[in-house]
Formats: sequence, C-alpha cells, structure tokens
Amino acid sequence: MIVMKFGGTCVGNGERIASVGRITARVLEQTGSTPVVVVSAMNGVTDSLRRAASTAASGDRRTYRLIRGELEQRHEQAIAHCVTDPERARALGAETHTLLDWFEDLCQSIWTLGELTPRGLDAVLGLGERLSTRLTAAAMIDQGSKAEAVEATEVIVTDGNFGNAGPLMDKTRARARARLLPLLEAGVVPVVTGFIGATADGVSTTLGRGSSDYSATIIGHCLSADEVWIWSDVDGVMTADPRIVPDARTLHTISYAEVAELSYFGASVLHPKTIQPVAQRSIPVRVLNAFHPERPGTLVCGEVSEDVLVKGITAIRDLTIVTVEGRGMQGVPGVAGRVFSAVGRSGVSVLMISQSSSEQSICFVVRSVDTPVVVDAIEREFEREMLRSDIDRIGSQDEVAIIAAVGAGMKGKPGIAARVFGALADQGISVISIAQGSSEYNLSLVVVHDDVDEGVRAIHRQFGLGRIQTQG
Ligand code: ADP
Ligand code: ASP
Ligand code: MG
Repeated sequence: MIVMKFGGTCVGNGERIASVGRITARVLEQTGSTPVVVVSAMNGVTDSLRRAASTAASGDRRTYRLIRGELEQRHEQAIAHCVTDPERARALGAETHTLLDWFEDLCQSIWTLGELTPRGLDAVLGLGERLSTRLTAAAMIDQGSKAEAVEATEVIVTDGNFGNAGPLMDKTRARARARLLPLLEAGVVPVVTGFIGATADGVSTTLGRGSSDYSATIIGHCLSADEVWIWSDVDGVMTADPRIVPDARTLHTISYAEVAELSYFGASVLHPKTIQPVAQRSIPVRVLNAFHPERPGTLVCGEVSEDVLVKGITAIRDLTIVTVEGRGMQGVPGVAGRVFSAVGRSGVSVLMISQSSSEQSICFVVRSVDTPVVVDAIEREFEREMLRSDIDRIGSQDEVAIIAAVGAGMKGKPGIAARVFGALADQGISVISIAQGSSEYNLSLVVVHDDVDEGVRAIHRQFGLGRIQTQG
C-alpha cells in the first residue's frame, strides 16, 4: 500500500486536480492496491488565510471579505472544471460555501476581539486543506473511482503546541487504522487533509507550514505503508534549489540522513520532519513530479552507496548571528552551557553554533524573528557578568544566511572546507562563521544575505554538481 501526497501546485486548479485523479487511478491499477492520498491546500491559499486572520486582528474588515470572495471564485472554477455531474457539483459548491461562511464568521470574531491567538490561527489556516480534499475526492468520483474526503482531525492526534503541533503516535496509529483501513478494504481512496490534526479533545492544530509531507509520512508509518510518494512540481530532490541554480540536477537516490540535513537547511522540497516517521520503519520515500509522472524521481532510503562527496547545496535566509563576547569568558567553565540553557528556556531553536578557539566568543545562529527573545534571555542570564565586564558584549548581526553543503561522502575526507572556502573566495564572498555538523554529513557556513545565491552557485560549481559536469 502506498501513501501519496500532492502539494499545492499539484492541486492548484481544476485541471491539476483532475490530473491528480488520473495519477491515483493509474497507481491503483499498477499496484493493485488502493492508495491513501494526502493533499495540501491549493497553492497560495494558506498564505491568503493567514493574511485574512492577521488583518482581521488589526481591525481591517475589508481584506478577509475580499479573500473570502477570491477563495470562493477559485474553488468554484475548479469545481466547474473537474466535477461534471451537475448534482454533485451543486452539492460540493454548497459545502464550499458553508465552509467559507464559517471562515468569515471566524474572521469576524477575530476582528471583534482584536486578537489572534495561536489556536484561532490554526483553526483558520486548516481551511485550505478542508476545501481541497473535498474537491479532489469529488474529482476522483467524477472519473469513476471510489473516494472519500477525510479530515485529519479524525486521524492525527497532536499535542496542543498550536502552529507547530507534534503527533502523539500511539493515539494516531489507533485512529488512523480505525478510520482509514476500512476505506482501503472497500477500495475507497481516502483523500486526507495534509497539514492539520487535532488534540485528543478535538481542538484543531497545524503541524507547521509546509508540513503536508510530514502528514503523509505520519500516516505511512501508522499504516505500515510499503512506500510514501511525495508528488510536487520538480523532478525530485535536486542538487540545489532550481530557482537559484538553473543547472541543478535531480538525484536518483539519497539517504534519509542526507535528505534530512538538506531539508533542515532549507531544501523546501520536503518538510524537515518528513523523514522521522519513515526512517524508523525503513519505509522508502519517492519524490516525484506530478507534471511529469513518467519521470523516475528520487528514491529516499536507508543507505545509499554512491561515491560522491557532496550531494547538494542548500541555504536558509532571514537569520541573525548572535555573539557573546568577553575576555572574562576564557577558561570559565559552563559559559556555553548557560548560554544555550538560556536560549533553550526561551523556546527558540538554534540552527548553528561555533566557538572560537580562544574561547573569547561564542556565536550561534537563530531565525531573525526570534532574535529579540534570545538576546533578552542571555542578557538576563549574564546580568552579573556584564556588570563586572567579564562579558563585554552581546552582539547580533541581522540579514545573514546559512549555506550548507550536504553529503555522506564528505565524512572523513580532507580538504572539503578548503574547496568550499576557495570557491567562495573566488567570487569575493567572505565567510562570517563556519561549523561542521556532528554527523560530518554537513558543512555549514554563514554569509551575508546579498552573497547567498552567488555562494550557493559557486559551491555547486566547485563540486561539479551541475547537469553536464561530472564530480571531481
Ligand atoms: P509542494 O507545494 O509540492 O509541497 P514546495 O514548494 O513546498 O512544493 O517544494 C517544492 C519546491 O522546492 C520546488 O519548486 C523547488 O523550487 C524547491 N526546492 C528547494 N530546494 C530544492 C531541492 N534541493 N530540490 C528540489 N526542489 C527544491
Ligand atoms: N498548506 C500548508 C502550507 O502552505 C501545508 C503544505 O502545503 O504542506 O503551509
Ligand atoms: Mg512543500
């Protein structure tokens, strides 16, 4: 049995949704078993919902009403394209209308309160998937398949960490099996909402932006799927983001560990948590292009024996490098521990750490949105040391990015860092800081924003990752 996830561009309009139906029917025919389908909202819808909720909270009634109108029009157009039976099209139109009324009422309450809570935001954001699953299931039925839209609030049980909820796997396994297996046995394709879940009490949550991939692997784990297929708008996992590196190449295979590093460091083709549930059970993942379903895509699995140094280059933007400096830090045990305990208490995650050998400074990288909280936490922790001038300064530099080179083949091979630095130096790009991941699968470095795209291209070229070159 296969779990397949279709991303936002794969369900972006009626034509695309009809194509999802055809791909699903073909998979059923070829494998002889009914797949589970997980879908995202139509592309751009989740962003619109977010804008509706935040403008409502700031006293604007016009924007959410406009957005409601746009969503209604876009979904109606898609229904007209892919649901030919007039009665079914009318019923789906009415259901869409009711869901949008509910959305408008919710925005109205947010407007009245003048406040948007994380819980309220999650309720709003999940609407896109609730609409797209109904539409996709209706399109499949229109094509003569058996399908049913399923809300993941009935399947994925999460904690109450709104905006970034984590699945409670035991409860989810029981619910997923109870809700989905009977459908599969009856040959009905369950079309499940990606991105959302609910607490054990039934309150709607979301698993984080871009997390429909993760929804698919959670379900794959719970149903012991044979494979999970992620359908997107690229040919697979590539050596770099093709929007930045035009000659980026599709990888035939990549290991769980490598793809986890790539996605953690910015390769948006897979959500960073996607691999966790499947790696535990050695369930292979394929990344495929829904616009060209005949292409082979990328296979992600346990071990990949390939003699390449570097698999891919990625970048994360909108970061800040925070530096804690002071002569009084030298040889004082526990400073680093206290810095990271303070950051940890603030609930912020650190993307990269480095300490100079003189022990006079520790620097680490966080997302820029988190900087004020982090700096405040450290200042409070070291109030006394700062008064005594043991710590001189807590500095921060905004508008930096991390570039990461990832590949299991880098492990134990000398000279990689020198080649990376050389490639950047040739372009006149200076490196602010560098760190090597403990796995040795990853070399990360910090550069200023303006240098990031050129830096990625330079390293990509240096390791011969482009389409026509071979790796040296
Ligand atoms: P979906 O809506 O299908 O989940 P996403 O936009 O989340 O699609 O992810 C696919 C996009 O990820 C691609 O269009 C591509 O621009 C981007 N991307 C970034 N890095 C990579 C990479 N290394 N390989 C493939 N795609 C990448
Ligand atoms: N629709 C959600 C988002 O845009 C989830 C996803 O697309 O994976 O974040
Ligand atoms: Mg995605």
